[in-house]
Amino acid sequence: MNFLTLFARNLRRGPYTERFPFGPPAPAPKRLRGRIEFEAKLCEGCLLCEKLCPSGAIRFSRTAAGLAFDCWHSTCVFCGTCAFYCPSGSIRQTTDWSLAHVEAEMFAVAEHGLIPTIVCAECGGKGLDTASNVAKVRPPLSDEEYAQLRRRCPKCRNKFLRNRGKTS
Ligand code: SF4
Ligand code: SF4
Repeated sequence: MNFLTLFARNLRRGPYTERFPFGPPAPAPKRLRGRIEFEAKLCEGCLLCEKLCPSGAIRFSRTAAGLAFDCWHSTCVFCGTCAFYCPSGSIRQTTDWSLAHVEAEMFAVAEHGLIPTIVCAECGGKGLDTASNVAKVRPPLSDEEYAQLRRRCPKCRNKFLRNRGKTS
């Protein structure tokens, strides 16, 4: 193929490169390890992800409003350990790789979430609206029973499950 033919063909085909950053980011492969996402309502509050994170990108902190979750994307090394070991699927790894930012935004490029503080429906003490792993509870909890369980502090949750076992 001579130069002119090649030139004409490439003119017809247009550019091979993506228009990013002037257009949308290029689609990523399905298994790309990108930005971390957190879904507070699925979180069991076990703090395993914070302990396992090799770069210290995940922090849980107690606040008056509840248990706050922060994951700084500028510290994350996208290893996927948190998502792999999370027992509840509340941390997911997306394929979003477009996280470029200026230095001044370093602490703003983050994922935040909050597990709210609750007042226990049984004893009136404080608890957290964490998810509860009830996969092995037999017979399985109905949606209403699960909602009742979540409205209780850890001690009253145990009592609730014990009493339910006796009555079922
Ligand atoms: S996100 Fe997953 S691993 Fe982290 S505290 Fe919640 S349940 Fe545990
Ligand atoms: S992907 Fe790895 S580095 Fe990033 S938050 Fe999860 S465990 Fe930490």
